[in-house]
Amino acid sequence: MPSDRVFNFGAGPGTLPLPVLERAQDEFLSVDDAGASPLEVSHRGTWFRGVIERAKADLRRLLDVPDGHHVVFCQGGATMQFAMVATNLASGGTPDYVLTGAWGAKAVAEAERLGDARIAWTGADDGFRRVPTTQELASALSPDAAYAHVTTNETIQGVTFPHTPVVPESVRLVADASSDLLSRPVDVGRHAVLYAGAQKNAGPAGVTIAIVAGEVLGDVPDGLPTMLDYRTYVEHGSLYNTPPVFAIYIVGLVARWLLEDVGGLDAMLERNRAKAKLLYDVLDASPRFFRGHAEVPSRSLMNVTFRLPSEDLEARFVEEAAAGGMIELKGHRSVGGIRASIYNAMPIEGVRALAAFMREFRDRYAD
Ligand code: PMP
Repeated sequence: MPSDRVFNFGAGPGTLPLPVLERAQDEFLSVDDAGASPLEVSHRGTWFRGVIERAKADLRRLLDVPDGHHVVFCQGGATMQFAMVATNLASGGTPDYVLTGAWGAKAVAEAERLGDARIAWTGADDGFRRVPTTQELASALSPDAAYAHVTTNETIQGVTFPHTPVVPESVRLVADASSDLLSRPVDVGRHAVLYAGAQKNAGPAGVTIAIVAGEVLGDVPDGLPTMLDYRTYVEHGSLYNTPPVFAIYIVGLVARWLLEDVGGLDAMLERNRAKAKLLYDVLDASPRFFRGHAEVPSRSLMNVTFRLPSEDLEARFVEEAAAGGMIELKGHRSVGGIRASIYNAMPIEGVRALAAFMREFRDRYAD
């Protein structure tokens, strides 16, 4: 690794695979035969057409997307998806929201601005430490809901659904997978909409991947603003207006890296499990010094969240880690503590270095 690069544990934008950055660097001034930078080329030119089509095809392959589902690229982040989902899918009644952390809470607040929405289950009273069990979910969700919205991985609390949540047959499943899409295989076919801002596992900020079931499109109400209507993206191949060309180009390179260097999402999941285990083992070995936030079955493989015995020690931990080349370990301002985001592109060496630092820090400061 170049000596001026640190291990970046930021929650997003997060670290990107080095081979992707190097390839982009090689092509930065002039790409293929275009004689221009990816920042300069036309989105209607041959080069970008190839890029966007290949990116979509590679995402389909990685995620095993069924034929009836569309992969589209939007802007406005996952936050705009909160509104798009509600406007496109809620005409059939009131949607149910499952709150396992701060992002689910934001999603339902947005849906409430646009119509009715119901909080079917919330972990707020326990401080968002776990996801509901399948039985809890089954009794919480209404069979008449317009859709059921879940956050597959809560980035701030570090709480995750270990498997695709099971919802009643009659209910459309909508998932915000911003911080775990592409980190593991997922049963796309069970989703009406699956979306993710790219800036954690899939690429840079500026593009949002949405996977939309074709059967949903027939129920989208007419009269929506053009850019808030999923049909616009499907009918125009995400090229109705100028898309975020550079961001989609990087998503394409990341997808290639996952297919060719990593070997697909099963292999990625193995790597992610191994990385997360290194950190959770340290937490479990010293539960009085490191207090993990999530209950064990709901632990995230992407965002490892924990507290230290005092806020003073937490500040010192963040500072000393940064001095040692491990940055962005401060927990989200709303919950405090420490958060280590270990997305796909975080090398195992970075996680080993952090685990070693945690043990050494504990040995120095534990009573
Ligand atoms: N959902 C989740 C799970 C997230 O982690 C984030 C961003 N951290 C968002 C939604 C909001 O995404 P964006 O900033 O792309 O709007």
